[in-house]
Amino acid sequence: MKKSLKLSFITSAIFLLSIKIVNAQTGGFAFSMDPKENQIQKNDAVNPCLTAIEYELIETRCAENNRLLNINNTLERPLLTTSLSWPLKTAAGLTDCGYYFIGAYVDQNSASGVFKDWNCGTRTYDGHGGTDIAIWPFPFNKVDNNSVEVIAAAAGTIIDKHDGEFDRNCVGVGSGLTANYVIIQHADASLALYWHMKKNSITSKAIGQTVVVGEPIGMVASSGSSSGPHLHFEVWAGNTASTRIDPYYGACNLLNTSTWWVSQKPAYEPAILKASVHITDYVPKVCPNSDTTNESTFYTLPFNGPGMPTDFAKFFVFLRDVSTGSIVDMKILNPNGTIYSSWNYTFTGAFNVCYAGWSKHLPITPGVCTFQAAYNGVTCSQNFTISTNNGIAGYDNLTDIVFYPNPATDNLTIETQQKAVIEILNIAGQIIKTIHSADKQTSVNVSDLSGGVYIIKVKTEKGVAVKKFFKE
Ligand SMILES: [Zn+2]
Repeated sequence: MKKSLKLSFITSAIFLLSIKIVNAQTGGFAFSMDPKENQIQKNDAVNPCLTAIEYELIETRCAENNRLLNINNTLERPLLTTSLSWPLKTAAGLTDCGYYFIGAYVDQNSASGVFKDWNCGTRTYDGHGGTDIAIWPFPFNKVDNNSVEVIAAAAGTIIDKHDGEFDRNCVGVGSGLTANYVIIQHADASLALYWHMKKNSITSKAIGQTVVVGEPIGMVASSGSSSGPHLHFEVWAGNTASTRIDPYYGACNLLNTSTWWVSQKPAYEPAILKASVHITDYVPKVCPNSDTTNESTFYTLPFNGPGMPTDFAKFFVFLRDVSTGSIVDMKILNPNGTIYSSWNYTFTGAFNVCYAGWSKHLPITPGVCTFQAAYNGVTCSQNFTISTNNGIAGYDNLTDIVFYPNPATDNLTIETQQKAVIEILNIAGQIIKTIHSADKQTSVNVSDLSGGVYIIKVKTEKGVAVKKFFKE
């Protein structure tokens, strides 16, 4: 990935100060950063997802497994019977507005040295046999967190699978590496190949067992000849690579005469994938490292993020298939829903994926605020909490919440006057524990927390209280 946020905060500040952009609503200066392409390393003709040798191996293994399983996979297929659902889904816990982009479609031009996708575009590479669906933003963080699952696009029989391979390969590591993969043979004897998955994530079902549509079969990662976390999804009408089809149908599809998708997505899907709030700049890392996101949903005022003015945070948007001249609209909303600040940005270039961040003053009203970004008719939101106490007690519209001891070692007793939802968050605002309390007194085990400052958020029907405690 390109080091896209090279502009330092100070450089941006000077730039904007020099043209005197004043944010009247916050009474301060707004520091912005132009969108940058998050230059993703992609597989290409020199670094293909699968090599000719691998394709031969697949053909041999599938033929042998069909023989061992007594499956007749040489049926005539006068009619298409298999329809494909989207082969990825997000795991619980990923609340981003989107999570993928298309890195490459099937190459429809069989000539060497030239390439064309089904939509007559060039979103492919020479000889590419599948659809590369890449996960983004924070691709390796998503791998770490098992955020994106590979699911069966159609029901069928597992006709081959492999696991146990290293799963953080990058482009240039050499082609021909073995991937963690699953091959599913459908009732009409067509095959779906799911490639590059995470080590030890492959379904425990045996070759010969069946899967239903939507069934998890692995996690997205970067095993085999892979440039970064993505699923290489390839479909064969029969049992050899020469029967390859392209599940997308369009004017330049020469391989099949209709779409294989249950619901075909457009070739370009402009969208905002994520709107998020950060204590300072997001730091993208080069493959195979996970990004340093610096994301937080909790800010106690006065707030001093690294390298940031007091009470400023960085508001980022992450987008896919951005076109020149398109506009993204941002708003920061107060807890009561009124607008605290707003701005927009007109893109001056086209990007497969890109992101941009702006330094903005945080709202000063305690409570749950919202960062909203709208692009291509869809609004993506992220809530974040503002607390205004710089001491031990946070903001509090519940005066009857008591907790002790502080500092705590093993157990924390929290007294509420009615049933409550109690959350323990780390200082970055990530929820560590959630307790649904029916009683007026709740004991929370904190012995498993490492030492440091934590936040207790108590929600009752009367309101929300946020307090800090120290774990020894
Ligand atoms: Zn591929």
